[in-house]
Amino acid sequence: MAAASGAAVAAVFVADPFVGKPESERGAPFRGALFCFRRLDDRLLRAYDPGVARRGAPVSQTMDQLIRIQEHDRRAARLRRERDSIPQRRAQVQAALADLGQAREEAEQAWKSGVAEAHRLDLEVEGLRERIRRFQAQQFEVKSNDDYRALVREIEEHERRVRELEDRELEQMEENEVLRARADARKKALTEDEAAVREEEAAMDLRAARIEEELEALEAERREMVASADPDWLHRYERILDHVGDFAVVPIENGTCGGCHMKLPPQVVHDAKRAESISSCAFCGRLLYWR
Ligand SMILES: [Zn+2]
Repeated sequence: MAAASGAAVAAVFVADPFVGKPESERGAPFRGALFCFRRLDDRLLRAYDPGVARRGAPVSQTMDQLIRIQEHDRRAARLRRERDSIPQRRAQVQAALADLGQAREEAEQAWKSGVAEAHRLDLEVEGLRERIRRFQAQQFEVKSNDDYRALVREIEEHERRVRELEDRELEQMEENEVLRARADARKKALTEDEAAVREEEAAMDLRAARIEEELEALEAERREMVASADPDWLHRYERILDHVGDFAVVPIENGTCGGCHMKLPPQVVHDAKRAESISSCAFCGRLLYWR
């Protein structure tokens, strides 16, 4: 069976008087028949002549396959980049949440310090009042006018101090209201943000799982695509891609390479246009096609 098919392939090529000639000179019905035949058993064609991709119609077929594989690879690369960016995004939202937690903690501490300060002032006032009561009791016991006046001065001085501290205490209590409102607002913001972060993390987990599924599907698809591709050209495509990192197969754009944008020699443009051989850019090595 293989031998018979091989003979048929040989017959087709022997009978093809247009191999190596421009597309315009090739007979359309003949080309169509040949195309169908080649699609039927591309691997057999390669077995007959591994260099066939460098001659005649299969060039466009090889390029089409490489372009499709490239589109596929780029889609997979985009998904991998997105997947790899997820831990960083997760770390960013966690860091933002930690900052908010820190702000809430600071606001809470400021309010607590304010409350403690108001309490301390209150105790100090209470202490001064106690001393005033003691001075007042002593006023009944002193014998001399000088001692009495000294006590009066002490009492006046303590009362002045009490008024001062009470003013400060009042200010502190007003400030504490503001501090408490701020602490409550930050606590509320933190609770809301924690919920938002949990949702975002769940969305990221879901996206990561979908990406893995898509990548697995893409890998299976690629294995199928690669099975029908020319291994030599595929190997070359992969080597170029490893080297340049973005596109291994690029269109010619206004006489320049679609990858490195260098002006191409007219002969290279001409060869790509005729699609009789696969041309490559002498500057960057990318494979070129005409569109
Ligand atoms: Zn180039």
